[in-house]
Amino acid sequence: MLDLLLKNGIIITVDPEHHIYEHGYLGIEKDKIACIGSMDTDVLPEAKKVIDLEGKPVLPGLVDGHGHAGHGMTKTIAEHTNDWETVAESIYYLYSDEEFWYVEGALSAMERLKFGVTSAVSMVGNTPRIDRIWPIRSHMEGSLSTGIRQYSGIGTANDPWPKRARTYFKDGSYEEYEVTPEEAFRTTEEAVRELNGIHPRGTCIVAPGRMGKRPWCSDEENIRHNQEMYRIARTYHQPIHTHAYGGDVKFLYEHTPEILDYHLSLTHSTRYSEEELDILSRVNAYVFHGPTTHAHIIGRCPVYRMLEKGVHVAVITDGSAPDRSFDLWRDMKNVQISQRTLERDYGVLPCGKVLEMVTIEPAKALGIDHLVGSLEVGKKADIIRVNTWQPHLTPFVKMSVQRLVQYAMGEDVDLVIVDGEIMMEGRTLTKVDEKSILIRANEIFEKVIEETGRKDILENPRLYDIKQ
Ligand SMILES: [Zn+2]
Repeated sequence: MLDLLLKNGIIITVDPEHHIYEHGYLGIEKDKIACIGSMDTDVLPEAKKVIDLEGKPVLPGLVDGHGHAGHGMTKTIAEHTNDWETVAESIYYLYSDEEFWYVEGALSAMERLKFGVTSAVSMVGNTPRIDRIWPIRSHMEGSLSTGIRQYSGIGTANDPWPKRARTYFKDGSYEEYEVTPEEAFRTTEEAVRELNGIHPRGTCIVAPGRMGKRPWCSDEENIRHNQEMYRIARTYHQPIHTHAYGGDVKFLYEHTPEILDYHLSLTHSTRYSEEELDILSRVNAYVFHGPTTHAHIIGRCPVYRMLEKGVHVAVITDGSAPDRSFDLWRDMKNVQISQRTLERDYGVLPCGKVLEMVTIEPAKALGIDHLVGSLEVGKKADIIRVNTWQPHLTPFVKMSVQRLVQYAMGEDVDLVIVDGEIMMEGRTLTKVDEKSILIRANEIFEKVIEETGRKDILENPRLYDIKQ
């Protein structure tokens, strides 16, 4: 007998044949999908619990391949200045304790789950905090307390150097010390070794702030760095995830081509040369594109042209600071609009392709497409339902994929199942006391701002002018 049966809904599988069951059902046994079919032709299997979908659509849980641990606590901070990254990094290195990282992990994972994201990648810090592994450990614990499938990443950090960091003790005192770039090699390996295998839904991946030809290092240092990140990833069988820009792909291809394989994902991927697009079309590395990011608006990521050439591309949020949430539904709309406008062709990026770019494509990049990313028998039961009984989504009788991709937003998700367990129903999370995390997050935010002594990062005296 099934543990859970979802019946009387539209089952959008995103499987290789793009099956959609207009009047369908989906059965779950333990943590896996046991059956999918049409209620018009099949006899419904028995189940311990039955949910009537009331005609609403279910889809695979979304996979957000790139965001930042910590950013949930730095939303809009210093957004009106040109140095918000410096401010965010100083908070992460100097003014954060275990409680900060735990609560931020829970906060961001709650946001993602409630937007229908069931698998989430978080780079710990703006670029990784590399002096100790307790921030990433606390962040993973907080994230996992919500029921999400969490991929937390640590690797090397970007400049400027040197950096200073603090480790806080229970009584509020702290030890302050200098951090050198080399420490990242030790902490990355320690984190990937220590933090994997503890929780069935928690994975620690290799995620340097940038890979390729980092401008603040010599070629020799970069080659060694790239090789070391790759060595750790291969040794512990984890993907590599990083930011990358023009020049990085060419450098990797010329010096360490073995790194450009399926399990490398390159976020932003702006300002690539034609030669680099050609390289990417020949290798299996993934491009992770954030259509709402500053990097794309300034530097442009030619998604459609990449896809034409055969490059693998997924869409990500890059949430959630200084000015964007983890709502991946927003990015489905933005990638379509921006690419159609850039190409001056409304035929590019049809909605089904966009949906694949937030489900099965990022799952492939992370090496988890055999588990998640589509609704198929034998895969993990990571499933979301969208409440389409709302004016902005009605009529909802035909063109379900188009209506969802172009009109649905994160708040429309009303059921989230991960590993066969209901983690959110009727907009209420089941594993975590949402209100208590929100209260703790507010308290920590106020405490951190107080400790930085930087009230100016909250106050914009020219809020209504046309320029700062
Ligand atoms: Zn990023």
